[in-house]
Parts: sequence; C-alpha cells; structure tokens
Amino acid sequence: MMINSSKVHVLVLPYPGQGHINPMLQFCKRLVAKGVKTTFVNSVFISKSIPADPKSAINFETISDGHDEGGYAAAESPEAYLEKLATFGSKALADLIRKLEDKGEPVQAVIYDSFLTWALDVAKQFGLVTAAFFTQTCAVNSIYYNVYHGLLPVPLSDSPISLPGLPLLQPKETPSFVYLPDSYPAFLHMLVNQFSNVDQADWVILNNFHKLEEDAVNWIAKLWRVITVGPTVPSIYLDKRLEDDIGYGINLFKPDSSLCINWLNSQPKDSVVYVSFGSWTEIDVEQVEEIASALKESGFKFLWVVRAFEKEKLPRKFAEETSEKGLVVTWSPQLEVLAHESVACFVTHCGFNSVLEALSLGVPVVAAPQWTDQPTNAKFLADIWGVGVKADADEKGIVRRETLVSCIREIMEGEKGKQIKENAIEWKALAKEAIDDGGSSDKNIDEFVAGLAGQKA
Ligand code: UDP
Repeated sequence: MMINSSKVHVLVLPYPGQGHINPMLQFCKRLVAKGVKTTFVNSVFISKSIPADPKSAINFETISDGHDEGGYAAAESPEAYLEKLATFGSKALADLIRKLEDKGEPVQAVIYDSFLTWALDVAKQFGLVTAAFFTQTCAVNSIYYNVYHGLLPVPLSDSPISLPGLPLLQPKETPSFVYLPDSYPAFLHMLVNQFSNVDQADWVILNNFHKLEEDAVNWIAKLWRVITVGPTVPSIYLDKRLEDDIGYGINLFKPDSSLCINWLNSQPKDSVVYVSFGSWTEIDVEQVEEIASALKESGFKFLWVVRAFEKEKLPRKFAEETSEKGLVVTWSPQLEVLAHESVACFVTHCGFNSVLEALSLGVPVVAAPQWTDQPTNAKFLADIWGVGVKADADEKGIVRRETLVSCIREIMEGEKGKQIKENAIEWKALAKEAIDDGGSSDKNIDEFVAGLAGQKA
C-alpha cells in the first residue's frame, strides 16, 4: 500500500558491520518503496566501500565512529571502539540532523540500530520520532532483556532456562556472551544495555517475521510498540521485483561473483554444499583444518568462503588438490549463491542474516555456531524450525570432521534430510507471504509509515 508519506524523512543508522548494514539497508528499500525519503548513515570508514550511485533512491550520509581510517579493526579493543563510537557518533549524528535541517531536508524520525542506544538520546534532544531496530532474533533479545532486568542471573547456573515465549534452553543454547560472561565483557555490556532506554523509543522494529517467532514476538509486544518487518532479504530473491532498480547492497568485501556463479552454473541441481561463516567470526586454524578434511571426505561438491585474512590457515595445496570438487573464494554473493538451484546445503556459523537468508530461500543448513547469538540461532534452526542439523563442537569448541561429514550426509542424502528440505520449502513460502503485499511484515511497515505520516501531518 502506498501511503501519503511524501513529506516524511527518516534517518537510518546501522551499527558499522556487514551483518547490521545488510538488514537495515534492505529495510530502507522497503521504506523507499512506500514513498518515504530515506537517508542511510554509515561510518566514514564504511562509506569508502560504497560505490557512488547517482541514481540511488536512498540518500547516503556519513558520521565518524572515531576510526575513519580502518574502522573497528583499527581500534585497540572492543571497549575502546565502542566508547569512541558513542562519543564521536553522538556528536556527528547531532551535527548531521542540524545540517539536514539547514539544507531544508528536516528529519522526522531516526531508526537506529538497537546496539547504538546513544542515538536515541540524540534523536530525543531534537524531538524526533525514534525506532530501535533489532537485528538479532526476538529470542536473543528476550534473553538479554531478562539479563538487563536481573531476571536471568549471569553467570548462569547449570540448569535449563525457562523464559516467557521461549522454549526451554540449555545454558549453552543462550548467546555465548551470556554463558561465558567473561569472554567479551564489552559486547555483553552493549547487548544487555540495549534495554537501558528502549522504553523511550516510539517503535521497536524486529528483523524477522511474525510466524517465525510467534510466541517470543507476542510476549515482547506486551512491552513496547513492536513490529516485525522481515525477512529483510531483497525481494528480487523472493520473486517480488519492487526494488531491483534501487540497487543490490553494500559489500564491505569484494565478492568473487562471476567466478562463483559460473562455477555453480556448471554443477548439477542440488549437488553443492555451501560453507560460510559470515563477515566477523574468526575461525581457529584447527577448525579450518577440520572443515577442509570434512569437505574432502564427504565427497560432495563445495563452495567455501574463506576470508582473505584466514587463507593462510588452509592446509597447503588444499585448493589445488580439491579443484575438481570445489571452489574456495574470499567472499561470495551469498544471496545469489543460496538462490542457485545447485546449492543443496549451507554449512553456516548461524549469524542471523545467514539464518534468515537460508530460511527465505529454502536451503537446509548444517548449524556450526561459533559465538555471540549463534548458539541460540542454531538451537532454533535445528530444533524449533526444523530446517537443519546441529554440528556439535567438542570440549575444545571445535566441530570435528566426522561430525561435519555426518551432518552434511544427513542433509544431502539422509532420511531426516528429506523432512528438513520439506520444512525449508515451507518456511520459504511463509517468508515470502510475510513480505508480499498485504503480508504481516508488509502491513506492519504500512502501519509504521502511516504513523510517521500522521505525526508529520
Ligand atoms: N555474506 C556475503 N558473502 C559472504 C558471506 C556473507 O554476502 O561470502 C553476507 C550474508 O549474505 C549476510 C552477511 O554477509 O547478509 C553476514 O551476516 P550474518 O548475520 O550472517 O553474519 P555476521 O557477518 O554478522 O557474523
């Protein structure tokens, strides 16, 4: 539905990381398609990866995160990065809001990544409408909410955890920052702190769709004005073409697109295992070796993303020795890969974007979570949504080759794999239904836009 939203201008501010930029940029496209003027704000460092596109329907602006050269990788520590991000970011965001006002393009609303609680404070100073955009699952949000309010004591005990709207969770099925609170205290603090001022936000936006986490969403919706707007997978991949002309996305790493797609084109239908651990997770050298052996041993064709900085972890001559069977690249066009008919299985670290993308494209997964929210996502993938099998790590935290081989075989040719494939196809249909015209997420976006337009009028 197109609402009379022509006067509404929103700023959209992601946390500066690939897994946050992707869903928030896709959400911008949905807003643009509803007639909202949308300005996407990146850190100066990230903006260097964005090709200038004069035809873009989205405006782009930058703010400093205090690390204009090098971004997060240039920071001394997570603590130091987050501190600078807040101080530099707050000032730069306020300056940007003033600049746009002076240019005659005043902003009505700020949609900020829920990690960036300071953005809400800045927006409130200007009397703007605020919306916290959560990029992780509702289940994960609910766990951190309970930690924030002291309802889930950290460190956890050994007993399973029972929280409203969620299945019973073993401690190791909660986010790693919760069950290992000393591992990354700065990240734990940031994630728990998401709830420090969210009560003041006018909207809470969830990057999922209602049927995916119905109970958790219904529970959290008792607390705030909550809308689900996902899956934030570009519509072209879900057979709906409203925004092909708005461009594809922002890649912080250069994808080997034609190499991947040409190679996939030469493979039979449902024959390839795709392996990727996202943009942020560092894989232990021992883990890389186990994956390499598993891919060799399982005998299936494979496409494996090994990030440039991890390439030296690959066993010597691995690429040459397996060139008949597989392809190793440093970054893939993941959506195109998952949408390709030759891909039958996705070995994933379970970052939530990868999870949503696999679900939306009907690709069964082998869940090999590493840290942060990934263990919880793996639990849901395997046990709740029924679209994958979990590859359990040993006591050293490494998923061994025999575990990986057996999980891959289960998906590719096992009995359980058939049911998983059927479930994956059902989720694909439900994901599409949610974002189609009149679907639950589409209606929620209409409600959000109508709310902004009403406030403006
Ligand atoms: N991605 C990609 N090419 C790759 C690997 C990942 O385009 O080779 C994209 C993927 O489609 C997803 C994002 O990068 O949208 C990674 O986000 P996710 O939440 O899965 O993991 P994170 O990087 O945050 O750990």
